[in-house]
Amino acid sequence: MQRVNWQCDAEMDDRLKKQSQSSEKKQSDGKHSLGKTAKEAKSQYPQKQEEFIKKMLSNTDFKSASLLLSPISQLFNPLNQNLLNKIFTQGPKEISQILESLRCSSKQSVKSFEEYTSHCKYETSNLSPSTGLGKFDISHDPKNSATTVAVKVFYEFEPTRNIKEYGIEEPLKWNEKEKEEWKKRYFNAITSAWSKKFSFSVELIGKDGNPVKIVTTPQISVLESSSKSDSHFYLVVEKIPKDEFAGSSVQIGGQHVKLDSEDTKKTSKCGKYEQRGAVHEFGHMLGIGDEYRDSGFNPHHADLTESLFQTKVEVKDDQRVMSCGEEVNILHYSTILEALRKITNLEWK
Ligand SMILES: [Zn+2]
Repeated sequence: MQRVNWQCDAEMDDRLKKQSQSSEKKQSDGKHSLGKTAKEAKSQYPQKQEEFIKKMLSNTDFKSASLLLSPISQLFNPLNQNLLNKIFTQGPKEISQILESLRCSSKQSVKSFEEYTSHCKYETSNLSPSTGLGKFDISHDPKNSATTVAVKVFYEFEPTRNIKEYGIEEPLKWNEKEKEEWKKRYFNAITSAWSKKFSFSVELIGKDGNPVKIVTTPQISVLESSSKSDSHFYLVVEKIPKDEFAGSSVQIGGQHVKLDSEDTKKTSKCGKYEQRGAVHEFGHMLGIGDEYRDSGFNPHHADLTESLFQTKVEVKDDQRVMSCGEEVNILHYSTILEALRKITNLEWK
């Protein structure tokens, strides 16, 4: 077959026109390269879409999924929903995976309830909130309106750093059982304090033209990563003597979280409140700033809460989790609301 270097679009169109006139005969021999066949099909778009797909399914050796991505994305723009559904039920796994990812990457905004329920899962990894701290994965599944927020952590258990501070002879070391128990207590503390505390809703147009209200209650969890590179945060957990206290912190703009063996137990704060250090620090991991009186600056999430809830963040000592206690309020969900709006392109409130 003659090789042609395309000079410009107009020339290519002429060439494709000629090819399409004789394509019935040529396609029957099944020897065309994928690129060539795709160009031919594009020239006949949209009438011959389905025929082309059938031919690809029967003739092409699908060695690499990425090979198909480019021609397919060119062909199905805009996506033909009926055809996609047919391919999902009939085609090889590779094709359905590629088409599913194309469908999912579609940035078109959903308006009706029907469009929403048929949309694939909305999700993104390693999302950094606009507050300048925090990182998490978030997904929203339209099939059950479930929103999941996951913070991936890599645990590093360390012996006591400064033995003089606690008046002990030797650094305390962790054994495997203690590590596992600490992780369990940490997980339980985080999920019981933070998960499913608030719901967000949005209205879409139903089949009958009436509004349909969708409600989602974000589930928040901690996942253990097996490597540093796969995690959002490194949790460095120092072993200190029982009932002692060491300051905990989350590195701003970084991945380090400094905790200790006593951080899953409640300690007295600001005179009359109680707080577990791990529960407070987790707020920072979600991108929320400090709210206690001496934190000394405008909280990281202040601008975001103003724009999302038209509410100012108070800076004072009280029962709130980012102050001296453990009470999570809806402003502490501001980075989750921001992320949910971002991935779904819907105005959740
Ligand atoms: Zn803090």
